[in-house]
This record gives sequence, C-alpha cells and structure tokens, in this order.
Amino acid sequence: MTREPMPRFPAGFGWGVATSSYQIEGAVREGGRGVSIWDTFCRRPGVIRDGHTGEVATDSYHRWEQDVALLAGLGVTAYRFSIAWPRVQPQGRGPANGAGLDFYDRLTDALLASGITPVPTLYHWDLPQPVEDEGGWMQRQTAQRFADYAAMAAGRLADRISLWITLNEPFIVTAFGYALGIHAPGRQLMLGALPTAHHQLLGHGLATAALRAAGARQVMITNNYSPAWPASQSGADLAAAHAYDILHNRMFTDPVLLGCYPDLTALTVTGDAASGLDCVRDGDLAVISAPVDGLGVNYYMPTRLSASPGSPLPFQMEPIPGYPVTAFGWPVVPAGLTELLGTLAERYGSALPPLYITENGCSHDDKPAADGTVDDQFRIDYLDGHLRAVHAAIAAGLDVRGYFHWTLADNFEWSEGFHQRFGLVYVDHDTQARTPKTSYRWYRDLIAAQRE
Ligand code: BGC
Repeated sequence: MTREPMPRFPAGFGWGVATSSYQIEGAVREGGRGVSIWDTFCRRPGVIRDGHTGEVATDSYHRWEQDVALLAGLGVTAYRFSIAWPRVQPQGRGPANGAGLDFYDRLTDALLASGITPVPTLYHWDLPQPVEDEGGWMQRQTAQRFADYAAMAAGRLADRISLWITLNEPFIVTAFGYALGIHAPGRQLMLGALPTAHHQLLGHGLATAALRAAGARQVMITNNYSPAWPASQSGADLAAAHAYDILHNRMFTDPVLLGCYPDLTALTVTGDAASGLDCVRDGDLAVISAPVDGLGVNYYMPTRLSASPGSPLPFQMEPIPGYPVTAFGWPVVPAGLTELLGTLAERYGSALPPLYITENGCSHDDKPAADGTVDDQFRIDYLDGHLRAVHAAIAAGLDVRGYFHWTLADNFEWSEGFHQRFGLVYVDHDTQARTPKTSYRWYRDLIAAQRE
C-alpha cells in the first residue's frame, strides 16, 4: 500500500516506546523484590484469562540487554519504562533494596550509552502487597509512602534522568482496581472507591515535591483520556457523556492543572458522589497542583455513552460502529486523538503544560508466517493514522513534545494475560524469543527519516 509521506514533526520531537515493570520483568522473587498486588491478584482463580500471570512475563529482568538492543535498533530517542516499587522498597516502607535500585541503575546507564533518554514511571500499578494490606490507596498514608519511595528512586537516579512520571493512569487504578475489581487489588467498591483518586493525586503531589528535593529536573503525571461521545443529542445522553467525561477525563487532571476537583454531582442520581471526597484536607489541592513540566497523555479510543435509567451509574457504554477494531474489540479512531488534544488545550488554556503522548497502540492477533516473519500491516495503519493525528494537533498549534508507542514487545496484558499482542516485536511466550514485526521496521524507518 502506498501512503502519503508522513509530514515532518518538529526538530527534537521525542520518538519512543513504552513498557511497564509487571508486564515485562518477571523474576518476581529475585533480587530481593517484595510481593506486589499483581502477584497476589493473579493467583485468584478466574481473574486472569487462562490463569496467566506476570511471574515470568517477557523475562526482561534477565533479558534487559536484549531489549535495550532492540530499542537501539529501532532508533528511538526515548524509552518509557516503569520502576517496580516492590523491587526498590520491598515492604513499601523502610529501607531501600540496593539490588532493586541497581537493576534500574544499569538499565539507565545502558539506555544513555545507546543515546536513548530514560523516562521512568514510578507507579504503573504494582503496589507492594504490604501497603495494600493496610488499605492501599484507600488510605491517606499511602500517598506519603509513595513519596518516600519516589525520593529513594530519585536519590539514586536523578543525576541521569531528565524526565520523571509519577503515576500511570490513576483513573484505571480507581476504576478497575478499586471500583470494579477487574484489576489488582480486585476490590469492588463502586463509587466508594473515590478516595483512591484523591490519595493517588496527593501521592503525585507529594512525590513531585520529593523528586524535586532529590534533584529531579522535570516531573509529570500520565493520564488515560477518552473523548466522551454522547450516543445521541438527547438531553439524557448528553448528561451521560458529561458525567463520564468528569470521571474519566477531568477528575485526575483538573486538580493537577487547576487546583480543584470538577463538580461531581453529575455522577450519581442522588448527587452524593461528592462525599467520596470528604477525605480532602486543607492544603491538599495546593500540593497536588504544584507546577508540572508536562502532561502524559495515553490514548486508545473514544467512549460512546448513553443514559442508564435505573442503574447506580449515570451512564452506560455503547459500541462505536463503523471503525476497524483491534483484537480487544477497541475501535480505531485516530481523529479521536486530535480531538482529545484540542479539548485539553481548550479546557486548560495557559495552564496546560507541554504534552507527551505516553501511550498509544493496538492489540492484534499476530501470528508468525511459515518463514517466521510477522507481517502486522494492521499495526502499521494504526501507527500511521495516530501519528498523523498527533501531527494535526501540532499543526494546529499545540505543544506536543513526543510520542511513545505501546509497546516494544508483546507482554502480559493484565486480565487478558498473554492474549493481547501490542508489541512491535513478537514474543514467543514459551521460548521468550523476540522477533521484530514488520511494524518495527516501519517505525524504525519513519524515525530515521524524521531525524535526517
Ligand atoms: C496501560 C497499559 C496497558 C495498555 C493496553 C494502558 O491503559 O497503561 O499497561 O497494557 O493500556 O491495555
């Protein structure tokens, strides 16, 4: 298929890929690592498809040099990975585990030696189990624990890391982890999970201060965003989309950029959702809204919403027909990314810091051909479309500084186990052999052309 040439991105635009610790590292009992909530959750019968776990994942703890070589071969300028809190501080309190810090230290040096900027995320969902045993993100003290751990990581690495990410997608932690129970720690508190939103945001604010005190230069948070599309123009569907927009898109961004929570009365029929934020104390929002140096944007798809009479939630999700779908069944809507970036600019105006697309990608049922090659044209179309969508936002005047594709290599996809393949590199989960797919070569060539 011939394509229009990709328009040129600004000089210095960051080209990257993203991964996370639990999804790739494995080695859960090595190097002094403590137990994480995902180790515990994966052992619960029936929660992960086919009983898969991240115990071995893609074995990146042992094969990290091979993965750095793949990154170097791809020519990325930046790599977003996450640091496992239980590796660095096994009990979630108390002393650091030197061997855990050594692992990320070696990785950081190897990336820098290959000309790749390391961009670590401090929390990509693998809470130390002892912290959950004391209530996890439902407890205020977890915010301070997180900041203490952030200071430990920065104490070792801040001299070589120019950009830190505190949290990955706190919305998903609250919604999937504590409200619905489909992710670790598997609690089903519904709107009773709202304190986890505030405690994570407070953790972000306290960690930002701790990182800066330890010499970190730039700090940001990564959120998941999804344009909220009403199923019709009826008042009821518009209200449903508004309620969803507040929960998914504004709840975790307004406090950081504007220093206040959005009005939550739209979230329940009785209007009492705001009591979920009774845990907010004087001064918290000032901590949470300390200046950040960027905003990480993860985008996968829009969400279509209609009213949901009689249900405790003020919306229900509807299919979005008319688009190609990924193996997950997610609609592929590149224009949704341009729309979302435009909404952020409109909503936050001069309070909006530079933007980074910290995740975007698709799962596809990739299978090696008889000769071993993996031809994933679907992913190339996806990447091409979404990069053009980012470029359109830049052309419209937005300050977007980088794009991290999700993900380098097929990995452990949470409750889907190894069933969803998101990688530019195919991983045989029996042998751990890594085979770059056609999309890997396509992205490599694009990066090279853009950097000429
Ligand atoms: C998460 C990743 C995940 C990806 C695809 C994002 O929400 O940050 O960990 O693999 O989506 O589901």
